[in-house]
Amino acid sequence: MSKVLIIGAGGVGRVVAYKCAQHRDVFGEIMLASRTKKKCDAIADAIHKAYGGRKIKTAKIDADNVDQTVALIRKFQPDLVINVALPYQDLPLMDACLETGVNYMDTANYEPKEVAKFEYSWQWAYQERYQKKGILALLGCGFDPGVTSVYTAYAKKHYFDELHYLDIVDANAGSHGKAFATNFNPEINIREVTQRGKYWQNGQWVETEPHEIWKDINYPEIGPKRSYLIYHEELESLVKNFPTLKRARFWMTFSEQYLTHLRVIQNIGMAGIEPIRYKGVDIVPLQFLKAVLPAPEELGENYTGFTSIGCRIKGLKGGKEQSYYVWNNCSHQDAYRETGTQGVSYTTGVPAMIGARMILEGKWNGKGVFNVEEFNPDPFMERLNLDGLPWHEKLGLDLEMD
Ligand code: NDP
Repeated sequence: MSKVLIIGAGGVGRVVAYKCAQHRDVFGEIMLASRTKKKCDAIADAIHKAYGGRKIKTAKIDADNVDQTVALIRKFQPDLVINVALPYQDLPLMDACLETGVNYMDTANYEPKEVAKFEYSWQWAYQERYQKKGILALLGCGFDPGVTSVYTAYAKKHYFDELHYLDIVDANAGSHGKAFATNFNPEINIREVTQRGKYWQNGQWVETEPHEIWKDINYPEIGPKRSYLIYHEELESLVKNFPTLKRARFWMTFSEQYLTHLRVIQNIGMAGIEPIRYKGVDIVPLQFLKAVLPAPEELGENYTGFTSIGCRIKGLKGGKEQSYYVWNNCSHQDAYRETGTQGVSYTTGVPAMIGARMILEGKWNGKGVFNVEEFNPDPFMERLNLDGLPWHEKLGLDLEMD
């Protein structure tokens, strides 16, 4: 039985704590630590009620402060740190794991607070140090990145000799009943979706204006939804790890209402990340906006509908063209009933728990820094079916990939 330290008590942290608590045989001891301890305590109380008195420990931590994390790790002595705080905390948490010799994992790649830019280079730079220390860092083990990366590895392993075209398609066909809210941390979400678009084609990155390219994509059991080409972090590692890919794109659905709000937010300067001075205090507009928007973990109760995320792949098998689609549809209401939060936090937290399980059971092992598609996808795919995110696959469909 192992010990895990979960950092971050938002929507995703809640789901990771719930799902780890369900598997006492693997996760013998759990500590949930975050900036606001009362949020950890509320989750611990809910788990205590839901799972027959299962106790998890809680602690207050500022994960930007390496010394604090090192002290907490030394006290609790976990086998693994699961980072589901914010991408800003990736590097200080990787530093703390390095100092204490503990395995690390996260669900989103590092981005500096002062530049709205995310890429793996900062975390890949830890490769040699993690190898020397004999520990493992698993990067990007949520749904996308995470499950989408495992789906791609599974497709390659079982259905293709060469992957040529990859479209990751991500629909949220749910409704939370609010005029405007984001499904995960608003600051990180708005930074991500207001960026310029980018996709991989014939060995290079092609940039677009934000939301310049769109099309209506049919999602299973949902129907057609307007989907926009955006840049998403798993594209960077997937084109590196599957170099036969000629094109790799990421599509996400946004409603007209969401995009209108986003335009207004940008036009009036509320998406800004530069501090402005207001009544003698420095305020970052986007952080202030986050404070007034609904918290993602509070959206669950009235959320209806489904998310649908999958990979559409074309390539070659035995010299012949092959097309393959693998996906999961997740019900916001089912997620809420099980964990008290909505489907986007659920679809991120479940794979994080499964990734942790893969490491703790030694099914995914190694020394250094890894993206999830570098490991054997089979045991992870098996757990998805058992742990609440069942997947479906079809060969030979029209994949709408023009
Ligand atoms: P939330 O904002 O709901 O939660 C973030 C939590 O981290 C909060 O509890 C917050 O504390 C805590 N936190 C922030 N800064 C610190 C710090 N310095 N020290 C300690 N704790 C801190 O975000 P989500 O739960 O929605 O998202 C969590 C992560 O999951 C993000 O990195 C996000 O990018 C990633 N994600 C990944 C997805 C994937 O599929 N791969 C999809 C969706 C999200 P406080 O409560 O005090 O604010």
